[in-house]
Amino acid sequence: MSNCRIGVYVCHCGSNIAGKVRVDEVARYAKDYAPDEVVISREYKYMCSDPGQDLIKKDIKEFNLNRIVVASCSPLMHEKTFRNATADGGINPFFFQMANIREHVSWVTEDENAATEKAKALLIAAIHRVMHHEALEKRTVHINPQVLIVGGGIAGITAALQIADAGNKVFLVEKSPSIGGHMAQLDKTFPTLDCSACILTPKMTSVGQHPNITLMTYSEVQEVNGYVGNFKVKVLRKAKSVDHEKCTGCGVCTQKCPMKAPNEFELNMAPRKAIYTPFPQAVPNKPVIDKTICTYYKNGRCKACEKFCGPGAILFDEQDRIEEIEVGSIILATGYDLKTAESLPEYGFGRYPNVFTAFEFERLVNSSGPTGGKIVTREGKEPKSIGILHCIGSRDKKYCEYCSRVCCMYALKFSHLIKEKYHDCEVYQFYIDMRCFGKGYEEFYNRLLKEGVNFVRGKVAEITDAALEPSEEGKLIMRAEDTMIGTVRRIPVDMAILCLAMVAKPEAKELSHIFSCSVGKDGWFTEKHPKLAPVSTASDGIFIAGACQGPKDIPDTVAQAGAAAAEVLNLIQRGEVEAEVVTADIEEDLCSGCRTCVELCPYTAITYNAEKKKSEINGALCKGCGTCVGACPSGAAYQRNFRDEQIYAEIKGILAV
Ligand code: FAD
Ligand code: SF4
Ligand code: SF4
Ligand code: SF4
Repeated sequence: MSNCRIGVYVCHCGSNIAGKVRVDEVARYAKDYAPDEVVISREYKYMCSDPGQDLIKKDIKEFNLNRIVVASCSPLMHEKTFRNATADGGINPFFFQMANIREHVSWVTEDENAATEKAKALLIAAIHRVMHHEALEKRTVHINPQVLIVGGGIAGITAALQIADAGNKVFLVEKSPSIGGHMAQLDKTFPTLDCSACILTPKMTSVGQHPNITLMTYSEVQEVNGYVGNFKVKVLRKAKSVDHEKCTGCGVCTQKCPMKAPNEFELNMAPRKAIYTPFPQAVPNKPVIDKTICTYYKNGRCKACEKFCGPGAILFDEQDRIEEIEVGSIILATGYDLKTAESLPEYGFGRYPNVFTAFEFERLVNSSGPTGGKIVTREGKEPKSIGILHCIGSRDKKYCEYCSRVCCMYALKFSHLIKEKYHDCEVYQFYIDMRCFGKGYEEFYNRLLKEGVNFVRGKVAEITDAALEPSEEGKLIMRAEDTMIGTVRRIPVDMAILCLAMVAKPEAKELSHIFSCSVGKDGWFTEKHPKLAPVSTASDGIFIAGACQGPKDIPDTVAQAGAAAAEVLNLIQRGEVEAEVVTADIEEDLCSGCRTCVELCPYTAITYNAEKKKSEINGALCKGCGTCVGACPSGAAYQRNFRDEQIYAEIKGILAV
């Protein structure tokens, strides 16, 4: 064939490959198989090491090579390394092919002879294939330094401040009227017991005042187009019905408003008005009108807020609008929900008034909450006994198989807060096992052991009101098998707190479509690699932070937000990135315009040109996944270096051994 002058390199990978594959025999076989094309065939201990790469560079010059084949590990690990070495040697980096004889051979083949034969087959396939490779040119794309962050919880806040402090413009989109997320609802935070609002509020204020941050509350992302460095985003700005430029935040409108609705921030344990700011430290600290409650929107009457608003800030006619922004990178920080207590009927939430959710308890114990911080039953009485039930919905194959990671710790925190207020209250912790994995967590548990809390090692299967004697009347009966002492315990209490599973937000799936990233089976956003790329997604330039990726406490959330911010700053600093080169394209003459590919492309890289009646691929969006190529019934879609002749050559090579 050809004027191909190929250099072949077979790696030992220490004993990873050489322990099972006779690498010297494989290297010799390649030379003997195609003596005219394979100019040099070597084996070496670690091809990825500097001396290994130097071998390739030196041989290219010395033997005038124009193709390189390395038989070693997975291309995921070192394809880039060897392509760079090939380019450094002076030839196009795509005149390179890799055969995976570690993951595909030595690690999965018991018999040495079989492993050696399979390695030969894969190597010969790579030699055949590389002869048909075409030279491709690297492309770069410019990075717009503006950044979009979606979600204004502690994750979004942390990332926004870090990126903005570094001098970059940030758009922070939050769907509710204020930033703060769930952390704003917490009282104290484990394990240090510092007041949540005291550490969160200064950060919220900094976001509100930061010259580099454009805060878009009461807003949601509707559409994202483009690719790393160049995203065009449509944001729905919901009508607040209040002009925040004019509003002074005096609160008179809220006082005068006659209409009440359940207050979501207080888990409906207190009312709010139709015109409201969600909580006292809200940022922005200016109200919005809830149109579903306001009598003016319902029947055209009232307007008390407008009448009493000094600066004339009420805007009844304001409409929802779409704002378009352009950014180079995106961080998703949309957080989590708690599993609804109603979805676990065995625990009687809603049926028995004194079954509380963990968030309800956070608000109950909070001095700015509906009871001013008094822990009382729904009838307003001081409880003499409280059961705290771990793992409700978590670690349970029926509901969520995973551990929610924070419940053990906040359950301990609750015990401490109860004991702090009511020293004599009997507190029972019902747990499967205690997971205190973080810094200072085990110490916090040990501290609680000395505070007179009762620990029952057993999961409560159900809550009933089945009293057996008069003293149990009106109480909640906990039944749990205490696995520590091997008996079934039956404990009546005045109040029960459900530590419900943390679950992914229901709209995460829809968001994953908008942002072209994926969610796992439990609905959490999926990271590119759990260990090596924990804040990246499958879409370049889109990162994830905080509890939208999985259950997380605040320290881990903040650490992850910092990591996502660092990734974004890295992109901005570089100013440009290499675009995927092994992309697909469509032979216009062959395309029948059936649009099969348009529907299938997971990166929305294909559009239909109605004028030409042909589908077209945007090379900047294409990730080279090959889906369209496999699906195109006309054979019009093709992928560079994955053309039919290259694939057939590879198959021919495999069959030749
Ligand atoms: P969130 O706090 O959920 O914030 C997400 C934000 O994104 C919200 O503002 C939300 O409105 C917004 N958002 C959602 N979807 C969209 C969208 N589509 N568009 C725009 N915005 C959107 N951790 C501790 O370390 N210490 C504790 O003491 C502690 N106590 C806890 C007690 C309880 C009862 C629970 C359940 C958890 C507790 N945690 C504690 C964990 C803590 O709540 C989380 O670690 C933290 O809130 C995660 O922050 P986040 O920003 O990732 O998510
Ligand atoms: Fe409240 Fe609506 Fe009346 Fe204003 S017009 S005071 S928001 S009910
Ligand atoms: Fe703002 Fe007017 Fe309400 Fe005062 S009365 S908080 S200025 S809208
Ligand atoms: Fe879309 Fe085809 Fe590119 Fe895959 S190879 S990203 S399906 S255009």
